[in-house]
Amino acid sequence: MSLPQTTARAARGPRRAVAALGLALALTAPLAGCADEPAPGSGAGSGSEAGAGRSTSPAPSTRPDPEPEADAAEPPFDRAAHSLDDPASIWVVSNKTRPLAPLDFAPADLSTPQGVENEFAQPLREPAARAVETLIAAAGAAGHEVRVISAYRDYATQVALYDRYVARDGAAAADTYSARPGYSEHQTGLAVDLDDFGACYLDACFGETPAGAWLAEHAAEHGFVVRYPAGKQEVTGFTPEPWHFRYVGPELAEEMRRTGVTTLEEFFGLPAAPGYAD
Ligand SMILES: [Zn+2]
Repeated sequence: MSLPQTTARAARGPRRAVAALGLALALTAPLAGCADEPAPGSGAGSGSEAGAGRSTSPAPSTRPDPEPEADAAEPPFDRAAHSLDDPASIWVVSNKTRPLAPLDFAPADLSTPQGVENEFAQPLREPAARAVETLIAAAGAAGHEVRVISAYRDYATQVALYDRYVARDGAAAADTYSARPGYSEHQTGLAVDLDDFGACYLDACFGETPAGAWLAEHAAEHGFVVRYPAGKQEVTGFTPEPWHFRYVGPELAEEMRRTGVTTLEEFFGLPAAPGYAD
């Protein structure tokens, strides 16, 4: 009986390796997003089990470990996991009909992204800061040099910015591209403008650049969505901004990608916000 035992022992190695891989995927999924990966235990793991079973007598030591099967079923997405109204929630929906409350809200966990080019050295909320570091690192690994332009802007800064735009272009024009104070996603500390050191700085053509296209495709893996996509001005109230990324966490970002719903308003069934009430 030495041969079956040897075979069983040999089969145990790969199986444990598969189980370890499954665990590694489960651990990294909340950070990097792994929606396209096979569920642990449902793919290669069960296949190698079947192969081992065919060539050897059943032995108690070769039964499948329970862990991979326990991970197989994913719970349905919980759309109520975070508040849409609390300005400190990573899912807060801020638009022209949903001002931050209070208007001068300031986040408590600001942190400056490390190891990235950051034009104005503006911080982000802690989870968004860490996520933009991994997003920019991944972009770099894919051959795209990306930097931060704008990140957190406080209420007073948005007042100054908006007033300057109104003075230059008038309120009606300014409202199409700049948020009023208390209505800016940048004031949540969860929004970041990115650039590739190229010619499409804060320009709609950024979406057509290799870096912009890569970011649009991979942002969700790091918890970001393109907040003002093309063709959705009547929903979001803003012309397309392929450079403006909003951190919502990888769970929601991946779910929006999976379902093909591109705006927070539509995903959560909120009214379209094409303009301010007044
Ligand atoms: Zn922006």
